[in-house]
Amino acid sequence: MKFQIPTTIYQEKDCVKNHAKELAAFGSHAFIITGRHSSKKNGSLDDVCAALSAEGVAYTVFDEIEENPSVETCRKAAEIGMKEGAKFLIGIGGGSPMDASKAIALLMGSKTLDTSIFYANAKAAGKPLPVVEVSTTAGTGSEVTPYAILTLHDAHTKQSISHRIYPAIALCDPKYLTFSSPRILKNTAVDALAHLVESTLNTNTTLYSRLCTEYGLKLWGQIKDDLAKDALTEEDYALLMQIATVAGMAITHTGTSIPHGLSYPVTYEQHLAHGAACGLFLPGYLDFCAKQEKAHAAAKCSTITDHDTEDIYRLLGVADLQELTAILHSLLGDMEVAEELWKKDVEMISVNEAKLKNCPYAITRGDLEGFLEKYK
Ligand code: NAP
Ligand code: ZN
Repeated sequence: MKFQIPTTIYQEKDCVKNHAKELAAFGSHAFIITGRHSSKKNGSLDDVCAALSAEGVAYTVFDEIEENPSVETCRKAAEIGMKEGAKFLIGIGGGSPMDASKAIALLMGSKTLDTSIFYANAKAAGKPLPVVEVSTTAGTGSEVTPYAILTLHDAHTKQSISHRIYPAIALCDPKYLTFSSPRILKNTAVDALAHLVESTLNTNTTLYSRLCTEYGLKLWGQIKDDLAKDALTEEDYALLMQIATVAGMAITHTGTSIPHGLSYPVTYEQHLAHGAACGLFLPGYLDFCAKQEKAHAAAKCSTITDHDTEDIYRLLGVADLQELTAILHSLLGDMEVAEELWKKDVEMISVNEAKLKNCPYAITRGDLEGFLEKYK
């Protein structure tokens, strides 16, 4: 059993300012990777620029990262970063800029614009430049995970790059969350819930990863009512940040499973936000695993028990799957998947070895086809 999170995490008010010297230690020129709008509105970009200026570090800003970042945008950014001679990267925003900064760091560290290295053997790439992440959403956990998920337009889906790139530092200031719309807060909180559930019901779950998931599920249970009522308090924002980060630590060790795998084509084709698309498939996954638990001796992992789904409901403070599904509905609303897309999605996940192996039970096409119904 192994547990390793090499990222240094600071979760506190004004952590960007407080740790400016640690940023400066990475070099004389920072490449800031962010989205088009939010980091300018919530103060995170100003905080980072001020911290760098105070330490005499030059910086270049690339603010064109789209939601679900594409390979092409990462390439465009890397070209600029290399021309500018940046020595390290700072991703500011939600999972999209944070993931993109890891992929851009890989190209820059490898001194190449050949994006085929993203999905090639680790040996095909050089050492990524150091990455600092400033998270402004509480969902993906990308500030601590080694994953970077990019949009592949040719394949009409999204996929994690094959390299593991851990951020050197994660700066998590809950004050940035107060600028989020209720929609973004709900979608991202459900993403964190999906990470907690998929990491628990996972072939790779261990007693260590469960320290994270049990803690995260309990905290999620504490904030769920305020989240649904759009009545989050300062304390809730801090808890949301913690939930996302511990859930990120958990999936770093286990990976995600079927709901995440099913979500990618739906996000690509129907533009459903990442967290919402994962939430759509959670009831189906929980229902499937609950049925399998009865015969848990068949599970691919000895940590799996015959009461894991019940434990999830208990930690979340809900009676059963029906109550949890009602909560997901109140947070995410109605969602549909077009029939043709759904057929293709089931086909794709049925051959997605990476996601299937993380599911602790053998799963058939018939099982998968029933997933959509369970959200209703
Ligand atoms: P996101 O795509 O990063 O951002 C969604 C929206 O929220 C954008 O419009 C963004 O605006 C805005 N936003 C961000 N922070 C805000 C704030 N504090 N206040 C107001 N608006 C804010 O959303 P996300 O859900 O955090 O990330 C999703 C991505 O992460 C997906 O690509 C997903 O595949 C990936 N992901 C990665 C991991 C991992 O382990 N690496 C895990 C799960 C998901 P701007 O565009 O203007 O910034
Ligand atoms: Zn996710």
